Amino acid sequence: MPDRPVVTRIAPSPTGSMHIGTARTALFNWLYARHTGGKFLIRVEDTDRERSTEAAVQVIFEGMRWLGLEADEPPVFQAARADRHREAVDALLARGAAYRDYMTAEELEAEREAARAAGRVVLSPWRDIAPNDAPDRPFVVRLKSPLTGDTVVADKVKGDVRFQNKDLDDLILLRSDGSPTYNLAVVVDDHDMGVTHVIRGDDHLNNAARQTLIYQGLGWEVPVWAHLPLIHGPDGAKLSKRHRAQAVSEFDSMGYLPEAMRNYLARLGWGHGDDEIFTDEQAIAWFDIVDVVSAPARLDWAKLNHINNHYIRQAEIGRLADLVSAIHESRDLPAPPALRPVLERAVPLVRDGAKTLLDLADSTVFVLMQRPLVLPEKALGQLTEETRARLGRLATRLAAATAWDVPALEAEIRAFAESEAVGIGKFGPALRACLAGAASAPDLAGALTALGQEESLGRLHDALSPAA
Ligand code: GLU
Repeated sequence: MPDRPVVTRIAPSPTGSMHIGTARTALFNWLYARHTGGKFLIRVEDTDRERSTEAAVQVIFEGMRWLGLEADEPPVFQAARADRHREAVDALLARGAAYRDYMTAEELEAEREAARAAGRVVLSPWRDIAPNDAPDRPFVVRLKSPLTGDTVVADKVKGDVRFQNKDLDDLILLRSDGSPTYNLAVVVDDHDMGVTHVIRGDDHLNNAARQTLIYQGLGWEVPVWAHLPLIHGPDGAKLSKRHRAQAVSEFDSMGYLPEAMRNYLARLGWGHGDDEIFTDEQAIAWFDIVDVVSAPARLDWAKLNHINNHYIRQAEIGRLADLVSAIHESRDLPAPPALRPVLERAVPLVRDGAKTLLDLADSTVFVLMQRPLVLPEKALGQLTEETRARLGRLATRLAAATAWDVPALEAEIRAFAESEAVGIGKFGPALRACLAGAASAPDLAGALTALGQEESLGRLHDALSPAA
């Protein structure tokens, strides 16, 4: 292990969305850096100029910000570093670890066929031709890989993964137009950023072998590798479009809290005994890369919902009210500032049952409704002469109430039912409809408490007045 402070990084390629696997990789890098007192960096791998639009880059930053995974230094942009990548290629050439390959397209095609027939990798004759014999025509620069022996990727998650060098062809480092290739850029950038631990998805395991050869060619220290298993859907198949959500922004829109995502994602491939719910501080204290398991992790919606519910129950009411208001607004249900206190009273009364912020938004819509409420058919049927008269008597009683909170109102309703010598079921559903229309609402005392005395009585009055 390098004898330096730990430096980890996330190196996303901007594609227009941030995959949940990238989020998990970022989280593990962040946790490991925090655990070791090291640094967590971000590098934007924006060499695909068509996909790497400003908007696509912003999606990554927004995803990281939302997840609460802050990098310790400003981002590095890979495309801006092409000169430095070319400089490293010059160094490889000078060390005899790379060569200029002048094969023409036809020669390359012929060599490919010969290699295929002989069951070996492509070998350019220019591997062994002295540079001063170079013709004046376009060339690519290739890494001069060893032909025998093994390259071992000593992976912290997978264990030692052995690659036979005879199977690794001479990787192109610079294309004939002078542009650096992916594996070269990653090695140079990781080295220059001082990265000690490369923690990333195991779809990059093969690249680790090639990158090891580049490090060796440059005489640089090879970082510690840790390749994480991919995230699969609940059915065990690779996470894809048919699995409800794969992008960070989708989890946001589905009403998951970032701290719930951090907690849940930490459990995808890593764990601390049976601990299901833990704080960031605990995760930081416990996290070690060697404890990551190598089997793919499966997304489990029930667990995610359970964890999200936990954090919804813990969150500050003001923050939940903000988040819920934003959802209401996106549904064209703006909450006037005057209703803010009402919303803040409603949130704690309904949040226990909320798996997501969308649930919380649904169960607080009743406070936003404008008088007079439109009552559902069913409620109109329940408002018989008898029930109207009873609710009228209840309204009189509620108008005189001096305490307006859940325990007081529960007692009030119970006492009223007794005085009427009926069960609460006789008038409860109708009362609820008068207060909330067709919207879902907490229990009666909760709905009354949230709405407040004046609004509750107003809604009751509307529903009981002859015009209703
Ligand atoms: N840019 C690569 C990706 O988005 C990651 C490369 C790396 O982590 O080395 O998958």
